[in-house]
Formats: sequence, C-alpha cells, structure tokens
Amino acid sequence: MQKIAILYDASQAVLSTFDLDEVLRQILIIAREYFHLQNVAILLLDQETNQLRTRSQIGWDDGFDLIPLAIGTGVIGTAAREKRPLYVPDVSKDSRYIACGKKTRSELAIPLMVRDEVVGVLDCQSENLDHFDSETIDLLTLFSTQASMALQNARLYTLERRRAAQLEAINAIAQQTTTILDIKELLARVCLLIQEKFQVSHVSVLLKDEEDLVLRAHHGDLTLRIPEGGRLSAGTGLWGRALQTGKTLIENDVASNPDYIGFYLETGSRMCIPLVSFGQTLGVLMLDSARAGAFNANDTQSLESGADICATAIQNANYVERVQQLAYLDGLTGIFNRRFFELRIAEEIERARRFGAGMAVIMVDIDQFKRLNDEYGHLLGDEVLRQVSSVFHQQLRKIDVVCRYGGEEFAILLSQTNAQHALAVAEKLRRLIETWQFPGVPRSVTISAGVASCPDHGCTRDELVKSADAGLYAAKQAGRNRVCLIPELQKSIARSGK
Ligand code: GH3
Ligand code: MG
Ligand code: MG
Repeated sequence: MQKIAILYDASQAVLSTFDLDEVLRQILIIAREYFHLQNVAILLLDQETNQLRTRSQIGWDDGFDLIPLAIGTGVIGTAAREKRPLYVPDVSKDSRYIACGKKTRSELAIPLMVRDEVVGVLDCQSENLDHFDSETIDLLTLFSTQASMALQNARLYTLERRRAAQLEAINAIAQQTTTILDIKELLARVCLLIQEKFQVSHVSVLLKDEEDLVLRAHHGDLTLRIPEGGRLSAGTGLWGRALQTGKTLIENDVASNPDYIGFYLETGSRMCIPLVSFGQTLGVLMLDSARAGAFNANDTQSLESGADICATAIQNANYVERVQQLAYLDGLTGIFNRRFFELRIAEEIERARRFGAGMAVIMVDIDQFKRLNDEYGHLLGDEVLRQVSSVFHQQLRKIDVVCRYGGEEFAILLSQTNAQHALAVAEKLRRLIETWQFPGVPRSVTISAGVASCPDHGCTRDELVKSADAGLYAAKQAGRNRVCLIPELQKSIARSGK
C-alpha cells in the first residue's frame, strides 16, 4: 500500500508540469527522496546522432556529464537497445560496464519508453555492491513509465511553444520585409530578424553574382574571417552544396568535417538554406552557431518558410532596384542621365565638404553637331553620341560619373579632384575624341568643355554648373575644340597651380 502511495505521489509530481527541466528535476528529487538514491542521471536520446546524452543528474559534481553513449554500449546503452531494465549487481564482473569516475559498485539502468520507442534512460549507480533489491527495481521501473509520459508531454509542449514562436517569427519577417524595397536595408533587416527570432549566433545572406556568391549582409555575435563583401566560390562549402542540390543542409559539427571552410571564427555548427524565388535560386541564407549540434531538423521547415519570404522580398527589391536604375539611365547611350547627375552632384558636394578633398564638374558639348547630323544623317549622329559616351566611360575612374546632360551635351563629376587636375582630364578627353576614328565619319569630330571645381568656383550645384557652363561658352567663343575655365578665374587658377 505504501509503495502504491509512493508511486502515486511520484506520478503526481512529475505530471504536474509541462516544463521539461522541471520534469527532469522532479524525477531526480523523487529518486533521491523516495528511493534514497545518491547517484542518478537522466540521459535523453539524441535522435539525429542516436546517442544518449546526460541531460540532468545528481550525485556527481556539477557540470559532470557522462560521455555520450551509442545505443548498445555500456550498461546504459544496452538497456536502451534491449528496451528493458538492466541491473548489474557487481559492475567489476560485467564487461559492459564503463567506468565514469565514481566508486560505483552496482548499477541499474531503466529505459524511458514512450510506446515502443526509447526516449532516454534513467541510470542509478551505487557505491554498494548489489544495492538494489527487486522491489525497488520494480517500483523504479513503474515510476519510470510515469516519468517517460511526463517527459513526452513536456517535449510536445516545448515543441508546440517553439512552433508558435516560430510562426510568430515568420509573421514578423513577412510583415517587416515585404515593405522594404531598398535591397541593402532589406538584407540587413532579414539578418537581424532571423538572428533574433530564431536565436542563432550569426545570420548571413550570400547572394549569387555570376559564378560566385557574395556576402551581402550579416548580423550576429561571431567574428568574420573573410572581408566584408567577400566573394566565395559557389562550388565549394556547405553553401555550394545547398545551392547545387536546392536543399537545406545542416552541418552539426564543423570541427569533424575535413572540407569545412572557415567563415566565422567561432562556428561550431551551420545550416544553409537556399534562397529560391519563382524557381530562381538567388543565393543562400546561412545560419551559424557557436555551439556544435545547434541545429535541429525539426526547425528546418519554419526556417525555410522564413527564407522563402526573404527570397521573394529580395526578388522584389532587386526588381525595384533595376527599375530605379533604368530611370537613371539614358536610353540611347546607356550612360547615366541628367536626373542621376542632379542626384549625385549633391552627394559629391556633401562629400567634398565633409572630407575637404574637393570635387570637379566638366561640361562637354560636341562641336557643330547639327552639321554632323545634316551631313551624315541622324542615325550616324546617334552612333557618334554612343561612341563618345563609351570613350568617356572607359577613360574615367570607376568613382567618376559620366552623364548625358541633354542632346549632345555631357556632364562629368570627378570626386576628390581639383581644378588643375580636372582641366587635365578634360584635355585628355578632348584630344582623344579629336583623333578618334568614328566609322562612317571621314573627318574628325571635336568637343568643347568647361571645367569648374569645388571650392574654387563655389560649393553649390548652381554655382558649379553655371561656372562650368561659362567655361564651355568661353571655349566655344574661342573657336571650339578646347577646354576652358570660367574666364575670370582661369588666370588665377593657372597661376596658383591648383
Ligand atoms: P555647337 O558647336 O555650338 O555646339 O554647335 P551644335 O550644332 O553642336 O549646337 P546646337 O545646339 O545648335 O545643335 C545641337 C544638335 O544636336 C541639334 C540636334 O539635332 C542634335 N541632337 C540633339 N540630340 C540628338 C540625338 O539624340 N541624336 C542626334 N543624332 N542628334 C541630336
Ligand atoms: Mg549643345
Ligand atoms: Mg554642340
């Protein structure tokens, strides 16, 4: 009767909560208080590795973990394999026993079962020989049935809560990303949200760029080992395999993989999810954890849903970026248009003001272009415009901006450049065009240019454009095919050698 009372109390205690840690704590308390056991451990089965790992214990020092055991090894693993309690009254006489630092003389391992499945093992060890009588073993076995149920309930509950939190996360990602159309801002937000909501150490977005993947954004606590914006071969690493197979891949112990490619210093495990939108693979969402074994296949579906939303948002942002770019490009020549010039000149002036490095504007106009059209036709005139644009584009630095300002006029922005240097650049362009062989035009085509620089000619858009225009007008007046500064400043600048 008393035994049934013990069992009843024990069951009530373990079934009174849905919190997994609390269930485990209750099991250990019952083992100690009711069964007077000193050394008890609960090992849970890790389904991915098929190993039993200590989850909770009493009697050993804090932080002590029994080594992970494969099913079938040791007394514990054997009990799990055979799905029945295993009692070893004298461990020194049993070859299956694996010593683990305690002065253990007898050991009882009881599998924790849900239906026909082993979910873990309750392991009891004693410093006495043949410590467990058959009554205790029976009672502990009955108790472990209740404990297994409580464990399973707690697990289901945890899973449910996790699912609910993940659904909430997916919802937040959907709400917060679909409205962002700026690609940089979007990628930063994606990384932040996934890192926060799914609680991983670091989140990175790698997007395809021809044959490579480029690290476009990342967020988290780990230390980056490759340069920002770094390029990676799309054929290597876990990301490469995820791209090729189109499947989410997990590497739960990077240290044991000889092909592992370092990316963050502290990575212990990694998950790569392909970013796919409308059948097009855009890149990979990469999650890194400092812990080994951090990723669970159960979470894959939720993360994939999050990644799908991100992929669609990235696709939208790419599309908007493309449309925006088109709005800033000149249809005939493919170089930037006047709208872009107006946008960039403000930025360049601001940069020059902040860093004191100066900037310059060159206004260029093709000489006698009307006559060229008249002589050779409008179509050839168009071709000349395209070729002049291409020559300018090729001759200038990547950071310089060449725009078609209108008709046969061009505006060029040179960053970190003074008047003297801008004059030299304009002169180089003038000479090049003068000698350029334009197919179908059996004579030379020439240009005139006016140059203005900040701060010499002013530091507003109007002052600079007006000065450069005045220089261009002066060049035309002086007979064309030349480069000029605004006349009143020409001499003083030439003298000071700026
Ligand atoms: P100047 O040396 O004084 O600059 O003489 P110009 O003939 O170049 O100057 P004007 O402004 O009188 O003429 C510009 C001509 O450029 C008139 C116009 O037909 C031509 N033009 C403007 N846009 C285009 C274009 O897109 N294609 C072609 N083929 N011609 C164009
Ligand atoms: Mg003109
Ligand atoms: Mg002209």
